[in-house]
Amino acid sequence: MSDAVLVVGAGVAGLRVALEAAKAGASVVLVEREPTLGGSLSGLLAEKGASFDFPDGISLPSFDEVKRQPNIEVLTLSEVTGLAGEPGRFKATIRQQARFVSDACTQCNNCRGVCPVVLPNEYDADLTYRKAIFTPALGSFPATFAIDLAHCLNTPPNYMPCQRCVSVCEPKAISFDVPLQKTFEREVGSVVIAVGGRRTNVTRLARYGYGQHPDVVTGFELERLLAPNGPVGGYVERPSNEETPENALLVLNPEHAEFATSKRATDYAWESSARHALQLVEQDIAHVTVLYADEYSNGKAGNPFLRSATERGVTFMRGDVEKVGAGAQNALTVQFKQSENREAFKQEFDLVVLEHDLLPLEEMPTLAEALRFSLTGEGYIQTIERRGSCVATTADGIYALGAAAGSVTLRRTLADCPAVVQCALGHLRLSVKPVEAAATSATEALGPQREEPLTAVPSTALPADGELLQRVENVLHAIIQLGEKAVGR
Ligand SMILES: Cc1cc2nc3c(=O)[nH]c(=O)nc-3n(C[C@H](O)[C@H](O)[C@H](O)COP(=O)(O)OP(=O)(O)OC[C@H]3O[C@@H](n4cnc5c(N)ncnc54)[C@H](O)[C@@H]3O)c2cc1C
Ligand code: SF4
Ligand code: SF4
Repeated sequence: MSDAVLVVGAGVAGLRVALEAAKAGASVVLVEREPTLGGSLSGLLAEKGASFDFPDGISLPSFDEVKRQPNIEVLTLSEVTGLAGEPGRFKATIRQQARFVSDACTQCNNCRGVCPVVLPNEYDADLTYRKAIFTPALGSFPATFAIDLAHCLNTPPNYMPCQRCVSVCEPKAISFDVPLQKTFEREVGSVVIAVGGRRTNVTRLARYGYGQHPDVVTGFELERLLAPNGPVGGYVERPSNEETPENALLVLNPEHAEFATSKRATDYAWESSARHALQLVEQDIAHVTVLYADEYSNGKAGNPFLRSATERGVTFMRGDVEKVGAGAQNALTVQFKQSENREAFKQEFDLVVLEHDLLPLEEMPTLAEALRFSLTGEGYIQTIERRGSCVATTADGIYALGAAAGSVTLRRTLADCPAVVQCALGHLRLSVKPVEAAATSATEALGPQREEPLTAVPSTALPADGELLQRVENVLHAIIQLGEKAVGR
């Protein structure tokens, strides 16, 4: 039997699971297809001291914790292409693309200055640009730069016509003399899928005015405008004139209005819209309105963000946008139709934000086939209740959480982590310590979800002295970590 857990995807969900499993004594193979970790929150996690105002007891994982954790093997630019064997002794096949830049990289930026290839920075909602050699944001982890071979001038078959970055790299960290990709195997006892989802495309409907009026932005663009490490330093401004907006309209799940049969706005969409509204209010933008098509099914009062937004004076209005057009003095005129009486009216706004919802990844069927788990009709990973949360997939020994398993909120994702970790550890050779501390705080904040209590992983695989040895190892490991913390590593 193996003593390793394979975690696929290093967003908030994958990072939290990897950290908890590693702290409990397991080896973790963390596979991330992007060059850096953090998923949809990578920009936020990259920013030192960034924090979410989540209810007490819920904290986001940090890159520093991952750096300090020797039990985690981080494999970036990697994907799992196959899984053979059975729980306790899986053999995972992993394909890793070349980074072309070694750990010797000092992030000096010299290469960035000379690279002639300029691309929109997708990690910054395309609001800024990056080069073919890049790191997504200041503070990303790993910090080592990477080369985007799809756009680099050295892309085969034009091999080596450029080399500008190589010539300015003092530590000689860049080399094209490496295989484009390599494939290798890892033995693991269990697998956790945390590959996240994708944002809905809210830009394609002409009546919302995206692309015609610069002050119509997407929720992702707003996130980057609000981020201190984003393009405008965290103080939101109108793209048209760089002035602070006096009012803003947030359109919840705009696709919904167009496709009558599409799903209602999810908890995720509601919560991130309310969070955006609160962030705008905190920047003294006096009038913030959230327009929604369907009532929130779980009751606004029960959700801390929605409750707080209402208390802070955010207006929630039910209706559909008919048209966004140019108004007087650089404002936007928005025509609505109210849901209740279908009455039409117009209002002027400085900023219109088209909020996203989450959908399953397009490539989910390929992953499901490689790892042999089932998907729901919508394309999310199908999950079954285990240890108080819906985290088991239809394949034995494989678990899932986060946006990969449904359009769930970040709080739900974090609350599900302990159940996932406990299930995953149950297949290992190790006897590991329980992870109840993190479990209770997150689950309490959400309220009980399932009746089955969280329990420690039963230790059946080791004799008593093996278990004792493992506990001693866990204690030593904790002491080493404390020591590392003390010397600032
Ligand atoms: C500023 C901001 C504010 C937000 N506010 C809220 C909020 O208030 N409430 C809320 O509920 N949510 C909020 N969200 C959404 C929140 O980010 C998501 O709910 C959460 O990040 C989902 O985490 P995840 O780990 O499941 O997915 P992700 O963050 O999407 O991470 C998935 C990771 O898996 C990787 N991956 C994908 N496919 C593969 C593969 N085949 N192999 C290997 N790796 C793969 C991806 O590259 C990615 O790194 C906010 C997001 C942002 C950016
Ligand atoms: S020039 Fe070399 S060391 Fe400097 S950022 Fe680029 S790859 Fe890293
Ligand atoms: S070799 Fe590629 S990454 Fe380096 S400077 Fe040229 S185009 Fe940019």
